[in-house]
Amino acid sequence: MSDLILVLDEGTTSTRAMLFDAAGKPHGVAQQELTQHYPQPGWVEHDAAEIWDKTLACMRQVVEEVGGADRIACIGITNQRETVVAWDKQTGNPLARAIVWQDRRTAEFCADLRDAGHEAEVQQRTGLLLDPYFSGTKMRWLLDNDPSARDAADAGTLAFGTIESWLLFKLTGGAHLSDASNASRTLLMELGGAGFDPGLCDLFGVPHGALPQVVDNAGGLAVADAQWLGRAIPITGMAGDQQAATIGQSCLTPGDTKATYGTGAFVLTNMGGEIPASQNRLLGTVLYQMAGQRTYAIEGSVFVAGSLIQWLRDSLGVIGSAAETEELAGSIADSGGVTIVPALSGLGAPHWQAEARGVITGLSFASGRAEIARAALEAMAHQTHDLARAYTADGAKWAKLKIDGGMAANNWMAQDLANMLNLSVERPEFVETTALGAAMLAAVGVGLHPDLGGAASAMRGALVCFSPAMEDAVRSERLDRWSRALSAA
Ligand code: ADP
Repeated sequence: MSDLILVLDEGTTSTRAMLFDAAGKPHGVAQQELTQHYPQPGWVEHDAAEIWDKTLACMRQVVEEVGGADRIACIGITNQRETVVAWDKQTGNPLARAIVWQDRRTAEFCADLRDAGHEAEVQQRTGLLLDPYFSGTKMRWLLDNDPSARDAADAGTLAFGTIESWLLFKLTGGAHLSDASNASRTLLMELGGAGFDPGLCDLFGVPHGALPQVVDNAGGLAVADAQWLGRAIPITGMAGDQQAATIGQSCLTPGDTKATYGTGAFVLTNMGGEIPASQNRLLGTVLYQMAGQRTYAIEGSVFVAGSLIQWLRDSLGVIGSAAETEELAGSIADSGGVTIVPALSGLGAPHWQAEARGVITGLSFASGRAEIARAALEAMAHQTHDLARAYTADGAKWAKLKIDGGMAANNWMAQDLANMLNLSVERPEFVETTALGAAMLAAVGVGLHPDLGGAASAMRGALVCFSPAMEDAVRSERLDRWSRALSAA
C-alpha cells in the first residue's frame, strides 16, 4: 500500500529525508550534516554534489526502513532558499560550489545597482530589495568569475537553479523546474508574472535560457526516476523552506503569521491573493501557487538567529550546547544590562544594512556566561519586535505569532517573545513544520487531501501556548537598550 509521503528537507546545515502518513504522523527520519565552506570572510558555499549524494542516501535509508518504495505515494521537497547551483545540463554535474543564501560576495554589485537607481523598480516588480541574499546577483557572479559556468553558458548547456530545482533535476534525470515560491526569491521573476522576466534577467545579466521553468507548488510536477528507489514516484509538492513552514503552521488565512527560528529567523504573514507592496522594507514573496493562482506573503528575514547560539558555542566556547542557554537565561533576573546585536553577517529586515557588524554592549565584571546567553536569547525578541513594528506600519499587524524552528524548542525564548511582543505565541508540539508543510503540499498534489485546509485539519497536531506576562516598564527598558545598541552596530 502506498500510504506514505517522502519529504526531502534540504536545510542549510543538514539534509534530511522524512516520512509522513496522511494524518501527519511521522514514520521515520534520516539526516546528514552538510559541509559548510567559508573560503573568504562573508563567503559561504556548499557542494551541490554532496547535497545530492546525502539526499539520496537519506531517502534510501528511510524508505528501506519502512519496507521499500511500494509504501511511498509521493515526494515533497523543501529547501534552503536563494542558494544557487550552476550545473551542466548535459553531464548533470555541478560546475562550481553552490553559493549559499548567507553569502555576501555580491554586496558591491548590489550597491552599484542601487546607486544606479534600480531599487525602487526592482522592489515594485519582484517584492525584493537589492541585497546579496537573493539568487540573481549570485548567478551573475558565477558567470563573471567562474570559467566553467561561463563556458557552459557559451555552449548553451548551463543550468541555474535553487536547491529544489537541482534535486528535481537529479531525481528526474533532466527536468529543469522551479516552484513559484523559490522562483520569487531570485530577483528575476515579477510577483505577478508567470515565469522569469526577460527584462529582469537583462538587468542582472543572467541568461534566461539557463533558468528553469516556473511551476505550481503542488500537483503532478514531475516523476522521480525508478533507478533511485526501485520504482518511479511522483514529485507532487515543492516549496522554499519558509513558505513550507508557513503552510505547515496552517497560516492559510490572510493575516496568519509564523516565525521560524533556525539558522536565521523568518517571519511570514499570509496576504491572500493581492500582490503585497511593503513601505517598510519588508519583502513581498509568493507563499504558494496552485493551478496557476498565487497566494502571497509579506516576509521579514533576519539573518542571524540560531547561528548566534552556534557562535557562542563553537567560536567563543561560553556554552556547551545550544539547549543550555534556556537554563542559563532563566538562572538570572535580567541580563545585567548586556545587549547583543547579532549583526554577524549584516542586518536584514527591516534595516537591510549589509555592512553592519555585531555588537555586545553593557559589559561589566559582573557579566558572565548567563548574562551573555540571556542577552543572545533576548536579541531574538528584540529583532522580532523590530519586524512587528514594520508589519504594523505596513497595515499587517499580527494577532498572534506561531513559532517553530530548532530554536523555538527553547521555552525561555518562547516566553520572552510573548512578553516582548505582548502577543500570544503558539508552538506546535511537533516542531518540524517545514517538513510537514512540504508533506501537506505533496499530499494535496497527489490527491490524499482535497486542499491545504483539508490537509491542515488532518495533519496538524497539538499546540503549546505562551501568554504575555511582562510589565510595560520592563519592556520599554529592554527596547531602549536595544535601540541604543543597534545604533552602535
Ligand atoms: P536550520 O534549519 O536553519 O539548519 P534548525 O531549525 O535546525 O536550523 O535550528 C538549528 C539552530 O537552532 C542552530 O543554530 C542552534 O544553535 C539553534 N538551537 C537549537 N536548539 C536550541 C535551543 N534549545 N536553544 C537555543 N538555540 C537552539
